[in-house]
Amino acid sequence: MIDLRILVLGTGGTIAGAAGSATGGTYRAGGLALAAMLEQLAALGLDAQLVPQEIARIGSQDIGWPQWQALHAACAAAMDDPAITGIIITHGTDTAEETAFLLDLTLPTTKPVVLVGAMRPADAVGADGMRNFANAVKVASDRQATGRGVLLVMGDAVLAARDARKAATSAIDAFRGFPRGPIARVTPARIDWFAPPHRQEEPAHYAFPDSLPRVAILAAGAGMDEQPVEALLGIGCKGMVLAGMGQGNAPACVLGALARAAAAGVPVVRSTRVDEGIVDRNVEVDDDALGLVAARALGPAKARVLLMVLLANGITDASRLQAAFDGG
Ligand code: GLU
Repeated sequence: MIDLRILVLGTGGTIAGAAGSATGGTYRAGGLALAAMLEQLAALGLDAQLVPQEIARIGSQDIGWPQWQALHAACAAAMDDPAITGIIITHGTDTAEETAFLLDLTLPTTKPVVLVGAMRPADAVGADGMRNFANAVKVASDRQATGRGVLLVMGDAVLAARDARKAATSAIDAFRGFPRGPIARVTPARIDWFAPPHRQEEPAHYAFPDSLPRVAILAAGAGMDEQPVEALLGIGCKGMVLAGMGQGNAPACVLGALARAAAAGVPVVRSTRVDEGIVDRNVEVDDDALGLVAARALGPAKARVLLMVLLANGITDASRLQAAFDGG
């Protein structure tokens, strides 16, 4: 039997949140130190040895470049460390999909990397964090968890980073997957995968950048005009993601302004404000004529992450950008 040694990178979030009352309505995300969390976990009698490393103790709405850099560096080092068999990242749920996808794009698939969070603070009645964490340990300990990219464990479901999205503000089963739903079901005792690993021994898709360019999400609304596009250009955006209506639509004047931005070297990706679905090229919007990119299955938050990584890697041409958004 292999010795399981899992690096646990703590960032905060509700899983490390403390309310000070089991029934209170307010709490502070990330109030609990990682060491205190792991002490509680020790009582669960998990099979793996957990190696803690605290990156931050914050709500994930405040996560950004410094924490992403630290997380990537720690994961990359653990990938190269033969003593580490898997990685768990405790994370707030608000931006878990962004961190998971950024790491998914920039890490090899040779060891399991599992993000886990919670919807209820650690001291709330019916807290879900400990179970989610025990599930994450089960996933990170499983040989079949490698070769699938970064995974997100919430509730008793395992989602692939590219599919995962937060879909509810406070429900326990707050995450959905699109186009795939959960790729496994997990409990602290058992895990069932629904398909074999499809990304065995893959190197990182993209180099982790030295910095990330400013890319904004523009939310479309009925009756809007093109001035928000001009304003985003005015603050030096290097790329834009449209959270469009329906199939990534926007009023004609907005599309015109976005086409002008694209022609001026600021790539524009059309995504949708709709919960899920594919935004295809050239359906109602003539992407070929306007020089725009269709986000396909990626919602606005993950489309922004991919666009930032692509631009940082020097990929700016609309057809190459489209190929990356089309790719699995
Ligand atoms: N907003 C906080 C965060 O994302 C708490 C939400 C949560 O973790 O569920 O960290």
